[in-house]
Amino acid sequence: MAIKNLVDQIVSGNRRALAKAITLIESSRVDQRKQAEALLTELLPHTGGAIRIGLSGAPGVGKSTFIEAFGMQLIRQGLKLAVLAIDPSSSRSGGSILGDKTRMEELSRQPNAFIRPSPAGSTLGGVARRTREALLVVEAAGFDVVLIETVGVGQSETTVAQLVDLFALLQSPAGGDELQGIKRGIMELADLLIVNKADGQMKAAATIAAAEYKSALHLMRPKFEGWQVPVLLTSALDGTGLPETWAAIERFVEHMKQTDQLDTLRMGQARSWFWSEVTEGLLEAVKSEAAIMERAKALESDVARGVLTPGSAADQILTDFFKRREP
Ligand code: GDP
Repeated sequence: MAIKNLVDQIVSGNRRALAKAITLIESSRVDQRKQAEALLTELLPHTGGAIRIGLSGAPGVGKSTFIEAFGMQLIRQGLKLAVLAIDPSSSRSGGSILGDKTRMEELSRQPNAFIRPSPAGSTLGGVARRTREALLVVEAAGFDVVLIETVGVGQSETTVAQLVDLFALLQSPAGGDELQGIKRGIMELADLLIVNKADGQMKAAATIAAAEYKSALHLMRPKFEGWQVPVLLTSALDGTGLPETWAAIERFVEHMKQTDQLDTLRMGQARSWFWSEVTEGLLEAVKSEAAIMERAKALESDVARGVLTPGSAADQILTDFFKRREP
């Protein structure tokens, strides 16, 4: 069977098979979707072996420079690294955060690195789903570290944090003003805070910023029991702090394993993935029925005009939807 063949090739580390699998899971064709599900089911026993890292930061903070330098360090250590991206804006702008070929030039040439740009998709949910599946595929292919990059704007951080073991936030060395500017909610997602560009003239500012972040973090409720979020100083340009970053990641994973929090975290993520599949599946089914959508339009305008509550409009749509499915 073709799927079985593909599975064997992926598990043995065949890159063409890997690329083929990812193309398959990114397809929205119904028949290919079915094949993708069959493939993922077969791959499932081979997944779970990687350290899953999320990396976020505002545009210009140095994410791609950091991933290039940090990634090369991991490669030199003999590790296999996959870099995936979540950029829900990519379908609108026509490009994606990893689409630019000049990014991570050296890393992209490494046989032990695999870089995949953000899949196009109209919704963050859709993009996240494909990235989650890509994560399983690269794990089955034997990658030791999977890094999921996202731009630090809006909802995508929360989505990425739902997919990974460790969420790292990259910050620039700007002082107190910047600190005020970061949304508290995003700080709360971080397991590791990295102040990048700690070099040259910015080194002093970076050191001050790191101290400020540290004291701000001390006031926060810990995300994981027994884990105090480290604040690291790095320079993606000269390599400062990169070995320390990896050491902190290893310490985090060790801590999470020893306290049984890693399994709990991943199990919780799998559960919420399941429910988001149910939600998305239901929504797709509703939207695929023309008659239902026709009626939804009318109800939507009643809701907009304030003559009908959203709750009762939704109720009517769902009642209609299920009535049509009765035998
Ligand atoms: P991204 O938008 O977050 O991916 O940021 P880039 O990696 O494209 O970097 C934006 C700019 O910051 C580029 O001009 C980089 O050369 C520069 N940059 C990145 N990391 C560092 C660093 O550690 N130190 C200094 N001085 N510049 C950096």
